[in-house]
Amino acid sequence: MTTEEIMGVPIDVITYNDIINDLPNYLHNDKKMSAISVNPQIIVEGQNHSEIYDFIEKSTHRIPDGIGIVLVSKLTGGQIKERVAGIELMVRFLDYANAYGKSIFLYGAKPEVVADAATQIEKDYPNLTLSGQIDGYTTLSEKEIIKKINQAKPDFLFVALGFPKQEKWLAKNISRLDVSVFQDVGGSFDVLSG
Ligand code: UDP
Repeated sequence: MTTEEIMGVPIDVITYNDIINDLPNYLHNDKKMSAISVNPQIIVEGQNHSEIYDFIEKSTHRIPDGIGIVLVSKLTGGQIKERVAGIELMVRFLDYANAYGKSIFLYGAKPEVVADAATQIEKDYPNLTLSGQIDGYTTLSEKEIIKKINQAKPDFLFVALGFPKQEKWLAKNISRLDVSVFQDVGGSFDVLSG
């Protein structure tokens, strides 16, 4: 996989299909995929959160999530040709989970938003398993959240706590979680909740 850098932040030259084609390698081999949105905000504001830069460096798939990223790549002779939007990638992951009977877990957003997103997803993707959900304002401790997710043992975990909370949470907790595919999804539950 080719990687480019914008202001020192690595971004992978990657398409939706490349990421989907990589899924079996992670789902069947006990490896962890972290598909992380790299957008102008994370590049600029990430400078104030050094653990986020470290996290992006270590992530397996750094997606070019913004037309600004595509433009900068073009202007500097890079190879990133198209945007990979976080919400669209989540939808492709849901399609995959539905096609192959995989399980998902939703963490984040307001209680009513995550509940509505869960209902909508179960309706639209009847063959996947929704193995759990926790809202982003829960009174559960971090330890309890980890325990709940590990008991559910989902294939996919979508984290919607907004920037920089979701990235910091993932940076800290991926190694403690029994999950194959992680994605930071910002406001995607709000969109999917309808
Ligand atoms: N959010 C959350 N807990 C928090 C802060 C935010 O669950 O402590 C949720 C928020 O309800 C929304 C999502 O994170 O569903 C994205 O938030 P925002 O739009 O602020 O972030 P962005 O999309 O700009 O990263």
